[in-house]
Amino acid sequence: MMKKILLSFFFFVVLISVRAEYDSLFSAGTLRMDYYHAGDAQNEYFFFKEFIHEPFWGGSHTQLIDAFEYGNHRVEMTDLATGNLLYSRGYSSLFAEWQTTAESKILQRSFEESVVMPFPKNPVKVRLLSRNRQGEFVLFLEVVARPDDYFIRPAAQLPCEVHQIHGNSDPAHAVDIVVVPDGFTRDEMGFFIEKAADFANHLFRYEPYRSHSDLFNIRVVAAPSAESGVSVPAKGIWPQTAVSSSFYTFDSERYCMTNAHHCLRDLAGLAPYDQIYVLTNTTKYGGGGIFNFYCLSSALNQSSPQIIVHEFGHGFAGLADEYYDSSTSYDSFYNLNIEPWEPNITTLVGFGDKWQSLLDPDTPVPTPDTPDWEGIIGVYEGGGYSAKGIYRPSRDCLMHTFKGEVFCKACQQAIVRMIHIYTD
Ligand SMILES: [Zn+2]
Repeated sequence: MMKKILLSFFFFVVLISVRAEYDSLFSAGTLRMDYYHAGDAQNEYFFFKEFIHEPFWGGSHTQLIDAFEYGNHRVEMTDLATGNLLYSRGYSSLFAEWQTTAESKILQRSFEESVVMPFPKNPVKVRLLSRNRQGEFVLFLEVVARPDDYFIRPAAQLPCEVHQIHGNSDPAHAVDIVVVPDGFTRDEMGFFIEKAADFANHLFRYEPYRSHSDLFNIRVVAAPSAESGVSVPAKGIWPQTAVSSSFYTFDSERYCMTNAHHCLRDLAGLAPYDQIYVLTNTTKYGGGGIFNFYCLSSALNQSSPQIIVHEFGHGFAGLADEYYDSSTSYDSFYNLNIEPWEPNITTLVGFGDKWQSLLDPDTPVPTPDTPDWEGIIGVYEGGGYSAKGIYRPSRDCLMHTFKGEVFCKACQQAIVRMIHIYTD
């Protein structure tokens, strides 16, 4: 008994000192940096726009340094005086995907992006890094942020109600999802909130989310659009909506995303968040999800439950697509000479760091892609938009098709590990 009391006292003291350490470095809220990510297939540039002080910080107070090295890019915040690393996070972008399209070979384009970090008490350096084709991080932008700088803009006080629809945990110990509507008018706000409740039910239908549902908070920002629906350029449909979502991203019909990223962040920042999910008012099949950037999908399609959980796999856990049909606009998305950073695909260059520990010692590598191996974790050729040279953990998975309605064990493991980053 005494041991138990001593042990809980020890954890209490650790908790207090961790809180004190966070409070000595950061004040309330988020430092958001807006910028433009521009270039073409060969070149990239980051152009600073502005810093914004948002009222909430949805992230952890203890796990401030990135544990995974996922993502094509990384944000780092260092103390200006000491150079100590205070915060880092990996993320990916629409720009990085666009760099693998044919258009990027003949055109320079720019994309809106933002990074968020806890609001510092002392002057800091914010650094943006991006991976080269060899997978190494290269520094692209370095900006000093002084917390008393009068150019740090306070977040806009947008007149949108925020509703908590799932969970009631401290944001510092929960995965906080903010759901933002697009293409729902003021009269359709009640309908949107019903669809957001469906979003929560769909997500928690699948493992490992089901058994971890108490570690999630889901909030919705009731932001109305002037007009109903979503843009479909090839059909001449262009409604005025809150975050300007559009099908035919990169001229791929089902790829629905937005380039109004700063506007999306303004709405998301009305609640504490770790992940942004945009639900669009359309029955048309489609969506997208980018790691630590945002996810977006149709609220009203019959496959919405599977699309939601698939896109959230990208946005939350950094999972790769395990499919390899010809339905995307990408040319050689992955460099086959290096190990991709995503936890659920491998080029076999560095497989030891992936799901090898989940394999039965008798399972051959590569594993035959035949019905005998159905449901068995292995190393199956084909994945990451390529039939050759990239391997996936299971014959089927929600990151591959929606037939089996389950995540493979490698994806489940990656999701659980990510949940603990936000909640431990
Ligand atoms: Zn999988």
